[in-house]
Amino acid sequence: AKRPYIVGNWKMHGTRSMLSEARAIDRAAERLIKAEVALAPPATLLHATRKEADLIGVGAQDCHTAEGGAHTGDISAAMIKDAGAGFVILGHSERRADHGETNEDVKAKGQAALSVGLNIIVCVGETEQQRDAGTALSVVTEQLAASLPECADAGDRVTVAYEPVWAIGTGRTPTVEEIGAIHAAIRASLLEIYGEAAQEVRILYGGSVKPDNASELLSIPEVGGALVGGASLSADSFVGIVAAAM
Ligand code: 13P
Repeated sequence: AKRPYIVGNWKMHGTRSMLSEARAIDRAAERLIKAEVALAPPATLLHATRKEADLIGVGAQDCHTAEGGAHTGDISAAMIKDAGAGFVILGHSERRADHGETNEDVKAKGQAALSVGLNIIVCVGETEQQRDAGTALSVVTEQLAASLPECADAGDRVTVAYEPVWAIGTGRTPTVEEIGAIHAAIRASLLEIYGEAAQEVRILYGGSVKPDNASELLSIPEVGGALVGGASLSADSFVGIVAAAM
């Protein structure tokens, strides 16, 4: 089995003064080798983060579907790769909500990213209303089926992140049983989509992961790592989560 994958999503946080945190995370990764560690800083810091950090993965938080053209303010997959990214997070619920990204958009972005050699982390997750209505499982598997691009080597290049929208930045998390049920359903969907290669696809949990709940969350069957927002902004707390993955 692969090492647990612990990814920090800095969202719209970070100027160059935060590079010291990236450096500290990179240094800690040298001893915490039982986990695979990565950071997704804002696009403005991709290049500098790649230069600061030798060991950890560096990725972006979004890319455009097109190779280039008249799209003011947007950034292509080739551009983020050129800036030092090895992967890109796609379909985060904040992008789905703030920018109206659909499953079809996410799939097209995934195709664009894979075609330039970037790996992808595709995010899915239900809202609180959907959870209360009892539809979390079907929402997540439908998002997944419609958002994942075709990929011949999905086991090496595709990661899925389950992030319940209501758990992001709230300090609330689903129960261990609830996460286990969703992750098992995601694995079953992945097997339908990608065949046997899906066994190697890591399924991350995201939403209020902190140093003090990380070991419990990471020990749930089918949880192959964590996508961490707030707690990835300081090296101390992020390294605490990485250490819990060992
Ligand atoms: P928090 O860890 O701040 O809840 O954010 C989770 C997230 O959205 C990571 O992508």
